Amino acid sequence: GERIMQINSMPLATMGKTYEGCVFVMKDITTVRNLEKIRRDFVASVSHELRTPLTVISGYTETLLEGALHDPAHAVPFLKTILQASQQLTALVNDVLDLSRIESGAIDYQFTAVDIGGVVRKAVEFLKPSLEKKQIRLDVRITAGLPTIYADARYLDIVIRNLVDNAINAVDERNGRIRISAFAMNKEVVRLEVEDNGVGIAKADLDRIFERFYRVDKGRSRQYGGTGLGLSIVKHIVLAHQGDIVVNSKLNHGSVFSVLLKVAHSK
Ligand code: ADP
Repeated sequence: GERIMQINSMPLATMGKTYEGCVFVMKDITTVRNLEKIRRDFVASVSHELRTPLTVISGYTETLLEGALHDPAHAVPFLKTILQASQQLTALVNDVLDLSRIESGAIDYQFTAVDIGGVVRKAVEFLKPSLEKKQIRLDVRITAGLPTIYADARYLDIVIRNLVDNAINAVDERNGRIRISAFAMNKEVVRLEVEDNGVGIAKADLDRIFERFYRVDKGRSRQYGGTGLGLSIVKHIVLAHQGDIVVNSKLNHGSVFSVLLKVAHSK
């Protein structure tokens, strides 16, 4: 492929008089340039994502000040839209900060032997209001006597919440079904699965969903307050656990996100 080289050259002279040749120093700076491009793209994406809710907030506020404030039929929905846009901004800022902390390696993971069932139950308890609101049927299956895993429970909780939250957003109201299961693959690896019967993901999008800000349906994601950063955060955390994450999905049928984690004793 294309390489970017930085070349410095200098003439070689004997006793400062006759030139005998030249020294060239060639440095491959392709990686550095690529990283610079990634950083620039990231800043551009963040700015773009910030602009959308900001435009909504200023646009609706102006309309309210220009008279809509005294028209109750419009004032309340406009204020709700402003509230939603500011919540979107908060979510975005929080996710960008989390992602940059996670990516920069600034996190001091506290790995211990973790009972995965306990972390799943805690995450489910947290998401209970959203599950109940959409009347989703949730099925949790944790194999009895599952070995503890090598993890930082706080970050494993973030992984599970993100995956279940995505599943909640993917399913239909009332017909939605989500199954969280954990079982041993072998003596060294435990598999945690979050399965839903939601919208599913087309093959072409599957490779891209872990990219920052990538959303299959931007409108849908914004509606539920998504930032497009959740899966990037999940992937980083899983890799920091020396684990892996794989997805199987069928459009209009549902998805299964599987996280492979190391058993604590195998460390
Ligand atoms: P978001 O904040 O938009 O949920 P994520 O990084 O968590 O961002 O996910 C990226 C995209 O992947 C989502 O916008 C959605 O299109 C798709 N996605 C993630 N999980 C699921 C799922 N369980 N079912 C269908 N699509 C999903």
